[in-house]
Amino acid sequence: MILEFRIYKDPWMDNGLENFFRILRNLNSCNVELTDTSIKLEVKNKEEFIKELTKRILEKRQNLLVIEKNEKTGEIREIKKDHLILQEEKKICGKVAFKEDLYKPEKTAEIVSKIFNLKEGKVRCILCGRAFDRTVKKLQQANYPFVTKIASLSGVRSYKDGRVLSLREYYDNLCPFCYLIGILEWTDDALVYRTFPGDRSFLFLPYFASLRELNDFKKSCIYSGILNNTARYSNIRVYPNSNDVENTPGEYSTLLCFYEKFIKNATDDIIANEWVVLQIPFGAVKNIKVDSINVEKGILGIIRYIYENGENCNFIYKEIFSKMYFYSENKKNVDWETTREIQEGLSKFFLLDNFRAFTNCLLPRKGGYVFFSSETRQALEELISVWRWRKMGVPKEKLDAIKSVGNIIAKISRNNASLLYKMDKVRTVEEFWSVLREIARKIPGMDEKDLKMIKPTALDELIQLVKGIVENNKDGWKEVRDLLVIYSSMYYAIDKMDKMPKGGEN
Ligand SMILES: [Zn+2]
Repeated sequence: MILEFRIYKDPWMDNGLENFFRILRNLNSCNVELTDTSIKLEVKNKEEFIKELTKRILEKRQNLLVIEKNEKTGEIREIKKDHLILQEEKKICGKVAFKEDLYKPEKTAEIVSKIFNLKEGKVRCILCGRAFDRTVKKLQQANYPFVTKIASLSGVRSYKDGRVLSLREYYDNLCPFCYLIGILEWTDDALVYRTFPGDRSFLFLPYFASLRELNDFKKSCIYSGILNNTARYSNIRVYPNSNDVENTPGEYSTLLCFYEKFIKNATDDIIANEWVVLQIPFGAVKNIKVDSINVEKGILGIIRYIYENGENCNFIYKEIFSKMYFYSENKKNVDWETTREIQEGLSKFFLLDNFRAFTNCLLPRKGGYVFFSSETRQALEELISVWRWRKMGVPKEKLDAIKSVGNIIAKISRNNASLLYKMDKVRTVEEFWSVLREIARKIPGMDEKDLKMIKPTALDELIQLVKGIVENNKDGWKEVRDLLVIYSSMYYAIDKMDKMPKGGEN
């Protein structure tokens, strides 16, 4: 028997197909070949093949579970991973029982054999277009999680009068192979997941136009040892082959943290920059959300550059963002909820290359400000220089003028941050000059002690710098505005921390 499975151009099914290839590759009873656009399968001995495949599926089934030990009783029990959209029956002696027949060990062989007894027929598969006689299982979230919101996804072949149709759940026309490929994708051990108990889980699907590239990338994820698939809430290891996992605060921080581990530990150069992220809520009704994330090659280049050449740090998430905290002046302590929100925001806007939104995360807010150690500050400055400053093509020394003016704004804003907010809100170059003039007017009224710590000529230097920048690029001042906001926020926090009684943070 010779079968061909073609690329779907659908993130769930293509990852499923790649996972299926890795399952088949180790079987003796078949030959399998992967190309950019398809998998070719030659079954040499069908009876033996069904036996081997069944055994392999039951081994892969282990990836659906985590083992937890009750600390008090010492009792060991299995738990279904939180991000799976697979229904569970009542546990038997602490063991998970799935409703899905394929994952019932006593029934797996029967289902596999049914699937490979497929005959040609009159029904056309909604996902692959194959003509077949009878379904094994209908289309539903468990085998195809996009099922309820398919209209928003590309690569769907269900059109009528030129419009994409939204697929009803339990759609009949799903061929047995697509069922198998889709349902097995939950066992994929090359995917990153992150669960926030009681809230939601994220599952990250890499996307490539070539199956071979997808396979190369996912093999690197596995062989580099950075994923721990026996952990329940996060599977990014702190160090390869250790059991500790990263406790990232959200979706984008997880992705950034993954990139850092991948760049450090994987030998292959191929790296995913397109992702489809499934957001799977807790609770019985799984109305999943889907995010498409496209990380520019330039941003991946910065992560790699900092890793290879960083002087003050090598990891942007781990050494900078995860070390920034929000201090609540009301609570006189770290506000962890806001802290996690800020760490996630910084990761997100860095990955999306949105500097404006990134600087916003660092502004002081009502009742507090973002603070960090001087090591973290130096690392942040290095990141800004690599990420923003280098591409402006202005010598690094000129950055000092921006920093100095940032320091002036911070000192003037000490008791009232309105000037800092005003700088952040500047929309036109005229408004920008006007705020700079306002700063100039306020300098003479500053405290004697503060005056000693600033460089008043910096303002003139900055004005000359911006004039030069604007001549080459009329929107170039915006970058300077964003840099001023970052440095002002940074000095604002340093100033506040200096005033804190000893024994405070840092
Ligand atoms: Zn199909």
